[in-house]
Amino acid sequence: MKAMVLEAPNTPFVLKQVPDPEPGPGEAVARVLACGSGLTIQHVKAGRTPAGFPLIIGHEITGEIVEVGPGVSNIAAGDAVTAYFYLSCGHCRWCVANLEPLCDNTGGHVGRNCDGGYAEFIKLPARNFIRLPDNLDYKARPAEAGIISDALATPLKVLKRAHVQAGESVAVFGAGGGLGIHQLMMARWARTRVIAVETKAEKFDACRQAGADEVVDASGGDVVEALLDLTGGRGVDVAIDYVSATVTLEAGARALGKRGRLVTLGGAGKTFQADARAMLQKEQDLLGSRYVSRTDILEALDLVARGEIRPLVSDIRPLEEAETLHEAVEKGTVTGRAALTIG
Ligand SMILES: [Zn+2]
Repeated sequence: MKAMVLEAPNTPFVLKQVPDPEPGPGEAVARVLACGSGLTIQHVKAGRTPAGFPLIIGHEITGEIVEVGPGVSNIAAGDAVTAYFYLSCGHCRWCVANLEPLCDNTGGHVGRNCDGGYAEFIKLPARNFIRLPDNLDYKARPAEAGIISDALATPLKVLKRAHVQAGESVAVFGAGGGLGIHQLMMARWARTRVIAVETKAEKFDACRQAGADEVVDASGGDVVEALLDLTGGRGVDVAIDYVSATVTLEAGARALGKRGRLVTLGGAGKTFQADARAMLQKEQDLLGSRYVSRTDILEALDLVARGEIRPLVSDIRPLEEAETLHEAVEKGTVTGRAALTIG
């Protein structure tokens, strides 16, 4: 099969012919129609996230099962599928509790610890394939269908993690990024007051179109002051930080009102100082949110299938143009998500 292979970290893709994958017991193989190209996998390509090489990256796939190995009953040839990103065990206490990102026996990630979706076919443990709903027109928009499993499900899970209620104010730091844009959409869908916090002026319009009621320019001026001004001095109910630099985390924490919740999703993943007195007096929560459960993916798929949300994929190219596409992802010039179409 044709595959985009990374021979080593921080090297260009090499388009190669590699053997077609064959499913062993408990495994399945899907033909890949499209695969999302986000910053998470660009970090792997650039060598900022450790992985085993040579490697085929990519996990936000739309595919069709072509073959299943012995003992597989959850999917069959012909099924339209997407993929669950984590190679979790399925039977530890966290997996059983539908909290698989916390798996005690994790085998790593699709496209990092095993080959991913930048190829004509992908082989995974069968349980990593999730069937697409019948009413999702994945053939018309395979790139959009593929990114639901991460770029849309992750923001949906954040709403649950932070117990976001209709009518609350939600500030999204890094709002113009691939996940940030979809967080704005999901926050709007949840009928909250949506505030985008973004440094790149060229992303402000996209933030508004995705659902932001207000945009705070974080490139200059005091973000905390701006957020307090916008909320009549009360502070925001929820701050969601996709940047997670020290400065954004501290701004998010300081901008919280009573019962405010700060959510970090990695990003830079830096340390920061929080005010224990404010946390006590205002009963605030500091939260981490890690990827999603399978249920979150099913719910996100259903939202798209019913037309409630439409993923934003603004740059779609053939597999052969992966290198150019990743240059755009690295520069941060993509609005929403980028994706490759394959086959
Ligand atoms: Zn587990």
